[in-house]
Order: sequence, then structure tokens, then C-alpha cells
Amino acid sequence: MSPEPAIRLRALTRRFGGIIAVRDVDLDVAQGERRAVLGPNGAGKTTLFNLVAGDYRPSAGSVELFGRDVTRMPAHRRVACGLTRTYQRSNLFAGLTVRETVYLALMGAEPRHFALRRRPDDERRRGSAGDALIERVGLEGRAGALVGEISHGEQRQLELAVALAGDPKLIMLDEPAAGLAPGERQLLTELLLGLERDITVVLIEHDMDVALSVADSVTMMHDGSVVIEGTPEEIRASELVQALYLGSDHV
Ligand code: ATP
Repeated sequence: MSPEPAIRLRALTRRFGGIIAVRDVDLDVAQGERRAVLGPNGAGKTTLFNLVAGDYRPSAGSVELFGRDVTRMPAHRRVACGLTRTYQRSNLFAGLTVRETVYLALMGAEPRHFALRRRPDDERRRGSAGDALIERVGLEGRAGALVGEISHGEQRQLELAVALAGDPKLIMLDEPAAGLAPGERQLLTELLLGLERDITVVLIEHDMDVALSVADSVTMMHDGSVVIEGTPEEIRASELVQALYLGSDHV
């Protein structure tokens, strides 16, 4: 029997007043898959993420994570299903160092993080786990730098370290390459390609090069609906995708 998909959406719909931001979406993402979600502005990509992560409740339809129906489960409990996500806008603290940020993320991911006494063993363990994470995202040498002083690309690397601190089974990244210089984009692509295959990765990405190099498969949204799903090659060759990205009216 094949394992349950990491994400299974059925007839998922979300309305905001008269706007249907996500319309009757069926979607399966297999465990270990790298899936890119593409689409022009306003297509419904971020709303779809918010529905999967539990930041929004659907108007209709269902969300399953690893075979478990989480449609009515609040966002913080979906984290226990192995889900973590990043946002379009960074939510890092500028006044902390890289090392402190990762340390706090590790602490926050532990079940017992309200312990009143400081335990030197725990601190050492987090310290070395933190150093390993910092190295994993290519930030060694920047551990003592303040978040507000590292580059935009380095902040994105740090966000990935924060996401990995919770040992997730599913990472959802909202436009990880937005605003990055070409060299930074290349580095981020390599980091994403280097993630262990037991982590499922779903990303919204406007940069086609990043999206199509990282993804095994692509879901294209338009006007709240899924309009095409395929391999990166199929997406590259699709006239519909080109029309949507060129803003043609003939779709
Ligand atoms: P972008 O690429 O610009 O981030 P997107 O594909 O992520 O776009 P969404 O942000 O999901 O698109 O928006 C889909 C539609 O839903 C848009 O028409 C948007 O204006 C509307 N929408 C999204 N969130 C809300 C909200 N909280 N209240 C009202 N309308 C919303």
C-alpha cells in the first residue's frame, strides 16, 4: 500500500465576500515530493497555503495531512502533524543574532520549553544542534551577526534553518526567492535541492527558474482554480502557462 499523501485537498473553496479566492481545488502532494505552485497575482496561491496551514478555515471542502483530516484543526496543532511554513514577509527579529534565532527556534520546537530552570545539558545540546543547522543552510561564519545586518538572501537561509528546527515532514515556502539577487537565488535553489527526501516541499514561486529547477511537479492556478498540473518540462512547453504569465486574455 502506498503511503498517504502529505497533502490531500478535496473540493477546497474559500470565499471572501463576493470573491472566490480558492475554488473547488482537488490536489494531492505525495510524501517526499517537491511541488511548485505557480500562477499570476491573485490566483489564490497564498490563500491555498493559508488553508493548508490552518491560518484560514475553508468555506467548503477538506484538508488532509498525512492521511489525517485537519479541516477543523487550528494552525498550531497542524505543526504537530509535521507541517511548517514560511511567509512572504520575513518574521525574524532584527535584534537577535543568527545563532540566537536558531537556538530559540530549537527551543520553541521542544515539547518542554516552559521549564523554569536552565539546564546546561539542554543548552549545550541546542548549541550544537543550532551550529549544525546554521552550517546546513550555509550560514557558518555568520552565526554571530545580527539578523538586521545580514543580507536578504541570508535571511531567507536563516528562515529555512528556523523551519528545519522543528524537524518537519512538510515545509511550505511562500515565495522563498522573492527579492533575491541571482547568486542568492542559485544558492537557495541548491539548499532546497539538498533537503532530505523524507521532507515534502511545497513552494509558491514567481521565479520560474527556481520553481522549475526545484520541483518534480507543478500546479498552476488561475482565478482560484487549478488550471494545469504537470512536470517542469510540460509546464515549460505549455501554451496556457505562457499565456497566463504573459497576461493574455485568451485563457
Ligand atoms: P500573489 O501572487 O499576488 O501573492 P496569490 O495567488 O497568492 O497572489 P491570493 O493572495 O491568495 O493570491 O489572493 C486571491 C484572491 O483573494 C485575490 O483576489 C485577493 O484579493 C483575495 N484575498 C486574499 N486574501 C483576502 C482577504 N483576507 N480578504 C479579502 N480578499 C482576499
